[in-house]
Amino acid sequence: MTACIQTRLDRYRTRNVPRYTSYPTAPHFHKGFGTEAHARALAALDPAEPISLYLHVPFCRHLCWYCGCNMKLASREAPIAQYAQMLRQEIDLLASHLPAKMRISHLHWGGGTPTALLPQDLAMLMRAVGDRFQIEPDAELAIESDPRSLSDEMIAMIGALGFNRASFGVQEFDPRVQAAINRIQPPEMVRRAVDGLRAAGVKGINFDLIYGLPHQTTETLLETIRLCEEIGPDRIALFGYAHVPWMAKKQRLIDEAALPGAEARQDQANAASHALQAAGFTAIGLDHFARAGDALAQAAEDGTLRRNFQGYTTDRATTMLCVGTTSIGRTPRSYSQNLSETGAWARAISEGRLPVGRGLALTDDDLLRGEIIERLMCQGRVNPAAVAAAHGQSATALADAEPALAELEADGLIVRDASGLITATPLGRPLIRVIASAFDAYLATQKARHAVAV
Ligand code: SF4
Repeated sequence: MTACIQTRLDRYRTRNVPRYTSYPTAPHFHKGFGTEAHARALAALDPAEPISLYLHVPFCRHLCWYCGCNMKLASREAPIAQYAQMLRQEIDLLASHLPAKMRISHLHWGGGTPTALLPQDLAMLMRAVGDRFQIEPDAELAIESDPRSLSDEMIAMIGALGFNRASFGVQEFDPRVQAAINRIQPPEMVRRAVDGLRAAGVKGINFDLIYGLPHQTTETLLETIRLCEEIGPDRIALFGYAHVPWMAKKQRLIDEAALPGAEARQDQANAASHALQAAGFTAIGLDHFARAGDALAQAAEDGTLRRNFQGYTTDRATTMLCVGTTSIGRTPRSYSQNLSETGAWARAISEGRLPVGRGLALTDDDLLRGEIIERLMCQGRVNPAAVAAAHGQSATALADAEPALAELEADGLIVRDASGLITATPLGRPLIRVIASAFDAYLATQKARHAVAV
């Protein structure tokens, strides 16, 4: 590789681009889309179509310094219990705006730390969901958890409620790295949580790992992967640490001098990817890995893999309803995000108003570009003209992407064939976010700064 191309690759790697868990991305949501617009979008849903439901708990029992989430540190039970009561009311309020008792095919508890709830409150909320919705017999019921605070009572409750997937932020097992990010959880602690959940009947286990953390090296990450193999999750997501202290104030506690540089990050990402594949995981999309035969690996294989706010998913529903502060949902033609301030969110619910803070009505152009970007992110290839035709639009609507595509092609990140099919090359795959950004009509007007591409 010539020095010139290497320089250009470095420029791509350090480019700030979105993760594209939605298109348009959340910074483009606006307050003009509020309660009334969301109520209209809900009323227009097709009762025959299954939906997914996302429930958000913003509380955590511990503060991790690398965290980019909008979370609240909770040392007392009362605020969490009060939040659970409001969540129950929001489930009722949301259901009252729907055209029918909708079927749920995917249900996901995220946060924060949903297992910060009391077990009886989790049960009360799942009963509320069951009263207002029809949970399909084969629905995926997933919950994010924190091994540092997962009690035996909560493990038993998660099993009793029929959850079939749990995810853990493992990140890195090296003690020095754990100290530098303020997340102390030795392998035995994670193993106890996983073994307990498996014994309670939760079959699917996801781990999140992070590279690019302070003091982290390729060696510590590979040792982490070895330890993970022993514990045996069936899915692993491998994310690059996004150091954005201007947005995530907790990250100011991270020692920037201890962060690996762009080249070291790239080495860690490559080594981890190779190690996971050598251990029998299939690489999926940008950053996920699943055991062969897993539903996620199957979806990647047959082209039905999707991407949403939880990352790569088998969830094919075109509507994701959401409850809880800051949670983001979508309908076929809109995004909505709940108010982030707990008091304002609770007040809206008490007054019988959907607690929407902002959102976006999707244009035909948004839907077209969103599908192209999602296909690139999921499959690493797309034929934009074919997608445009399927949307009843002309490929000329995408002419603004051409200069960026020509540059990516010249640099060997994509190849294009005579039919117009764009395929990311092995060089381009780790930079798929940069490739997808060629179709992002909002990027030039982007106000938010995103994390670097690798
Ligand atoms: S990383 Fe997870 S557990 Fe840690 S503070 Fe953030 S949301 Fe809470």
